[in-house]
Amino acid sequence: MALESTLDSSSSAASLRGLCGGRVHLPGEPGYDAARTPWNLVADQRPAAVAVPHTVAEVVEVVRAAAVAGLHVAPQSSGHNAGPLVEHGLGDTVLVRLHEMTGVSVDPEAGTVRVVGGTLWQEVVAAVAPYGFAVMHGSSPDVAAAGYLLGGGLSWYARRHGLAAGSITAVEVVLADGTLVRCDATHEPELFWALRGGGGNLGVVTAVELRTLPYADVHAGMLMWDRVRSPEVLRAWLDWTRDLPESVTTAIRVLSFPPLPDLPPFLSGRQLVVVDGALLEDDERAAELLAPLRALDPEIDTFARIPTAGLPQIHMDPPQPTPGVSGHALLAEVTDETLVALLGEVGPGRTTPLLFAEIRHLGGALARPVGGGGALDRLPDPYLLFAVAIAPTPEAAAAGRAAADRLVAALRPWSSGRRFLNFTENAVDARTAYDEDSYDRLCRVRSAVDPTGLFQANHPAR
Ligand SMILES: Cc1cc2nc3c(=O)[nH]c(=O)nc-3n(C[C@H](O)[C@H](O)[C@H](O)COP(=O)(O)OP(=O)(O)OC[C@H]3O[C@@H](n4cnc5c(N)ncnc54)[C@H](O)[C@@H]3O)c2cc1C
Repeated sequence: MALESTLDSSSSAASLRGLCGGRVHLPGEPGYDAARTPWNLVADQRPAAVAVPHTVAEVVEVVRAAAVAGLHVAPQSSGHNAGPLVEHGLGDTVLVRLHEMTGVSVDPEAGTVRVVGGTLWQEVVAAVAPYGFAVMHGSSPDVAAAGYLLGGGLSWYARRHGLAAGSITAVEVVLADGTLVRCDATHEPELFWALRGGGGNLGVVTAVELRTLPYADVHAGMLMWDRVRSPEVLRAWLDWTRDLPESVTTAIRVLSFPPLPDLPPFLSGRQLVVVDGALLEDDERAAELLAPLRALDPEIDTFARIPTAGLPQIHMDPPQPTPGVSGHALLAEVTDETLVALLGEVGPGRTTPLLFAEIRHLGGALARPVGGGGALDRLPDPYLLFAVAIAPTPEAAAAGRAAADRLVAALRPWSSGRRFLNFTENAVDARTAYDEDSYDRLCRVRSAVDPTGLFQANHPAR
């Protein structure tokens, strides 16, 4: 960015000083660094200002003031997917961080839950559990509900119940003109359609209302082997997934843990292959379904009936802000050759900076449109690739990116060319995530509610 426009942006941003009860932080001010730091510590966000609202009224005042000052607005809840925003550049943008605007209220009669803008999934899961309800969170407890749902949301319930965005019954959103709208299937239905999968392109989401699922407990857990077993375990898992009921949603990962004192001894310095997930079945049927994998004699087997409140823990995702770089592809098919290509990068005997290379099993209800639709209402591909390297230094980030790129390239022959934006942590052309009609419709809704392009999403639709 030219020096002149940087100076313009900083003097414009100064006009926001004092808003949000004083929680607007400008570069150089004491609160700026803490407020701009996202969950993914690799993303060095340097916005013109960071606002940390506590109320809807504060969101409205920041959106209005940013528009008057000629600045963009980037809503952010946890910062799990902050990487693309840094690539787009935030020098003329107010980052609106919603992590201090949280809360959950359950309506047990209606079986719905209202989730305030910046709330993390772990709070939602804990709030609905006493009523015997579950929600369609992902593998990580500290991802925020808003960003995850706006991107579609891939849960352990997915092959039975589809994308999590299909569980949204209403959205409250502050639009570019500063108005607060509550939209649902009958009120502002086009906006409601666009928000279910259309990302942070439409406004600042201050609350989402969801339909819960009637599961108090679930059969879930993980099976673990040493990485030397990965060729046979990967092949057995692939065969197993070909003939599974939609009640079973699992993933397989080849993991390489560094030798760290913070890790439990069974993980520290180990290379492993792990299958985990959930079976919406009674215990007898679950045991029957798991038998072919158990026949491979795993070193650890934790599959059992657990309260649904424990489900966000099974994947062992990092429990605190972490520096990470990643690669992703949606796979139109996975064959024995695909597995050979994967093992060529992370299999036995390979040294890799990747913490894990993961294939998630899609299909089932994920391949069908969810009831009532949405900008992203299905994932048509049968498998998803996601690989992550921990990147505490720029050198580690470069090595991790190169390894993730190599893995994605090695699996390109099986890639569909489509993407799931929740797992896309670099700037891409967002149209690759939608069918053509849906993308055009999303862009039309966006132009109608945000004609000047005030909002800066991590994955912009324009
Ligand atoms: C360890 C790990 C595990 C994951 N597991 C899963 C998984 O199992 N399933 C899955 O689907 N995804 C998963 N993800 C991806 C995750 O869902 C995305 O990164 C998602 O974008 C995170 O949402 P967030 O709000 O927490 O992050 P943010 O970075 O805060 O948000 C991402 C984008 O969403 C939009 N946004 C966020 N909040 C708002 C808001 N209140 N109003 C308007 N726009 C908003 C913005 O455009 C923002 O740039 C995982 C990611 C990681 C790192």
